[in-house]
Amino acid sequence: MLCGECNSRFAPDPMRYRCECGAALDFANPAPLFAVEDLASRPTTIWRYHEALRIAQPDDAVSMGEGMTPPVPSRVGDHDLRFKLDFTFPTGSYKDRGAAVLISALREMGADAVVEDSSGNAGAAIAAYAARAGMRCVIYAPSGTSPAKLEQIRVFGAELRLVDGDRHATTEAVLEAAETTPYASHNWNPYFITGVKTVAFEIAEQLGWRAPDNVIAPVGFGSILLGLRLGFSELRRHGITDSTPRLLAAQAAHCCPVHVAWRVGADVVGRFADPRPTLAEGIASTRPIRARQVLTAVRQTEGAVATVTEDEIADGVRALAREGIYVEPTSAVVVSAFDRFVEQGVIRDGDLTVSILTGSGLKAAGKVLA
Ligand SMILES: [Zn+2]
Repeated sequence: MLCGECNSRFAPDPMRYRCECGAALDFANPAPLFAVEDLASRPTTIWRYHEALRIAQPDDAVSMGEGMTPPVPSRVGDHDLRFKLDFTFPTGSYKDRGAAVLISALREMGADAVVEDSSGNAGAAIAAYAARAGMRCVIYAPSGTSPAKLEQIRVFGAELRLVDGDRHATTEAVLEAAETTPYASHNWNPYFITGVKTVAFEIAEQLGWRAPDNVIAPVGFGSILLGLRLGFSELRRHGITDSTPRLLAAQAAHCCPVHVAWRVGADVVGRFADPRPTLAEGIASTRPIRARQVLTAVRQTEGAVATVTEDEIADGVRALAREGIYVEPTSAVVVSAFDRFVEQGVIRDGDLTVSILTGSGLKAAGKVLA
């Protein structure tokens, strides 16, 4: 593992989740990649790309057949759009991509217990894969999390600790536990982003090994955007695709620290000073840990960041439902963000855009029509 801030290096260790300097760690060496011609005979799961997933024994991975989510075509005016149904995973959110790889890696390193903090979906994913791996699991979550998500975490047998205050208070609360138990963090641990990058592989494979022009994703801590950046970069570097997409981040106007930094051209993302409650609870992060990497990914791909209002989030849920798709409000930020990117000229005529739908509507039932 390598620290991008101070260049310190560390051997893989289940207890190591960040650098001594406090920064997040990444892998020191690029991952190998699969050969496209080997894929035809493989199962349609994320493990078809196992060479790229840094797991020594992929046949023994902690898996529930996750991956290869449907790309559903849609149109907005003259624009060609695909919805990537990344809520069609065993626990109902894209977080299973990261949880499957992270829990598999921690088990290979000998861990028999994990702690994690989450606004809900990552907690459910880590709790599910920990249950499948036979690991003890403790999840810290904000006390305002949707009841359905909290029940989902509990039903997997995880111990749930509720924390008052904002999402950042939950992150602070888990750190003491992380001194004695491996921290299966979807934000700090680079194995999680290694799993999430499979969304880029799937999008490219489903388009005949082509990158779309744009990908829109909800951004809280930014793990899906970082996974997209990593996956599409690897495909391009190995010559499997000949371009990478513009990465477009969607945030709730009520909590949008990445948008604030992007709009003023800052290199660092400060704590969002005045967060208000939002329907998009899964991305209500006031101080994202890897926010600088998220900004860099947006800038390097000539992408952009947009915010959407609470009314637009609710409208987004209804608009997708009219096409037969039921998502949680967090996912629906991509709908109005699409319109905003068109207005701004970021999405151009003739572009192919993929919007990632990250979490099932069943996760937050009652929030929009209540
Ligand atoms: Zn460091």
